[in-house]
Amino acid sequence: TEMDIGVAGLGVMGRNLALNISDKGFSLAVYNRHSDPVKAFAAHAQGREVAACTTVEEFTRSLKRPRKILMLVKAGIGVENTIAALKPHLQEGDILVDAGNEHFAVTERRERELSAAGIRYFGMGVSGGELGARNGPSMMPGGERAAYEALAPILTKIAAQHADGPCVAYMGPGGAGHYVKMIHNGIEYGDMQLIAEAYDVLKTIGGLSNDELAEAFSAWNEGELESYLVQITAHIFTVRDPEGQGQLLDAILDASSMKGTGTWTVEDAASLNAAIPTIASAVDARVLSSDKAGRLRIAKILAGPDPKDAGRVLAGFDRKALIDAVRDALYASKLCSYAQGMNLLRLASRERKWNLDLPEIARIWQDGCIIRARLLSRIKAAFAGDPELPNLLLDPSLAKDLAGRQTGWRKVVALAAEAGIPTLATSASLSYYDTLRRERLPANLVQAQRDFFGAHTYKRLDREGDFHTDWSATS
Ligand code: NDP
Repeated sequence: TEMDIGVAGLGVMGRNLALNISDKGFSLAVYNRHSDPVKAFAAHAQGREVAACTTVEEFTRSLKRPRKILMLVKAGIGVENTIAALKPHLQEGDILVDAGNEHFAVTERRERELSAAGIRYFGMGVSGGELGARNGPSMMPGGERAAYEALAPILTKIAAQHADGPCVAYMGPGGAGHYVKMIHNGIEYGDMQLIAEAYDVLKTIGGLSNDELAEAFSAWNEGELESYLVQITAHIFTVRDPEGQGQLLDAILDASSMKGTGTWTVEDAASLNAAIPTIASAVDARVLSSDKAGRLRIAKILAGPDPKDAGRVLAGFDRKALIDAVRDALYASKLCSYAQGMNLLRLASRERKWNLDLPEIARIWQDGCIIRARLLSRIKAAFAGDPELPNLLLDPSLAKDLAGRQTGWRKVVALAAEAGIPTLATSASLSYYDTLRRERLPANLVQAQRDFFGAHTYKRLDREGDFHTDWSATS
């Protein structure tokens, strides 16, 4: 048999993507390291044109040449082992795609190593979770362009279908695809933390119940904040606890975990001198939350306002006004976070000569992926209108949005500070905004200090050149 494409790895993502591929009329071969998932898939896929293979020999033999294989296995050691198992059975021209969340630099190393054997190694980010994989994800493929062209007839069919076209596009050479997926996830961290802070302010300061929170978030999802994450959040507030009384959300341990893409985003931003304070704060917030036992010990020692009395800071500011202010703060903060993510994409593209197409990236994020949101069509339009736009916030219509949301945004950050409610990401966004708009920053003092202790020199406002002063001798 000559199957169109192979899927190696039948975890959550692999088996759902395989069914999606089959639905679109392509024949496929599937393989998994342990054979139970293969058997389960075969049983589930009866009547479909599927070769369910328990050995790599059988799997690679069933594929049309040049072979196209999508690997959906655990990043790192899982991909390493799968490549090692497949490689002896692959030939020149075969396309091997890592469709998991791998670090872009690792993908580039593997691309180099496998090119020696003529194997076209390819990195592709896939977003949308289980449902996205099953019904249409957003995909961010990167590597050799000709390899993309060979995959495109399948990828464009299985992707989420948006009015602007299928949510897949060639991102660029090397690790560009995995890089764009990494930034997608960094932005996702920012969105999730900003939403969590909005929840905390409304619940702790505003005293909103879960039902009232569900109502507020549902209303937001009808407007400019319309997005998958706001929509699922509204739903989460309504879910009853299957194990006990009340709502499930209230029974969940407040310590978040993560798998790495957020941290990678922060590391790469630092290496490129890119400022992403909102996204970095979102990663920090997860790290700080994760040690619940440690937090409980510290909570006994550090003084501050009692969250139980947080409502007092409202002092006459009514609940309706608070909900609107939090909505404005969330929207403005989110916009700043996207500006940071897009800026990082631009810097990385310049540094690594990827030639990333920012409007096209915003386009394929409009559906299928976790960060899909109404705002992305505005972002797409902003970069399409001015590809040289140095910062998303400089787009006139988005800048106007931010201007209109100042009052609520500042009010929320001020109320939270007064009540002792942390807003790491919301305040980081506001400070990012204020830093960008400030004509004069206190960086003059930093330069003076650097010159004082390290003779690092400084520039002057009124004259050209580099200056150094013997500060301790001068007064
Ligand atoms: P997992 O990340 O849990 O990977 C499961 C697959 O990896 C199985 O086929 C498993 O084989 C194989 N595997 C695990 N460890 C090894 C190993 N040491 N050596 C060889 N194979 C191994 O499954 P997911 O479907 O969740 O994710 C697949 C990829 O997609 C990951 O990179 C993930 O980060 C990414 N992703 C996941 C999303 C999600 O919502 N889950 C969303 C977007 C991307 P076996 O069954 O034999 O153990």
